[in-house]
Amino acid sequence: MGLDKWIKPEETKSKKKIDKQENDSKPKDEQIDKQISKIRKFDLTCSNAKCKYKKTIMKKTLSEKDKVCPRCKMEMKIK
Ligand SMILES: [Zn+2]
Repeated sequence: MGLDKWIKPEETKSKKKIDKQENDSKPKDEQIDKQISKIRKFDLTCSNAKCKYKKTIMKKTLSEKDKVCPRCKMEMKIK
């Protein structure tokens, strides 16, 4: 009756609040897990036989820039 009108909005309101809290905390934990697990060591060697420049990069993913040899601008190979 009259009470239903009052109780219902309360329930939905508090439920929404809990859902939001869960949503807020969950992706954060996953992000941290991913960040830790995704950091890799990349051993790069220049594909130019005359250059053979080597470098090691520690990061999640290599960017296109990371794959370019700083010395001869050729593409570097990942070991
Ligand atoms: Zn090179």
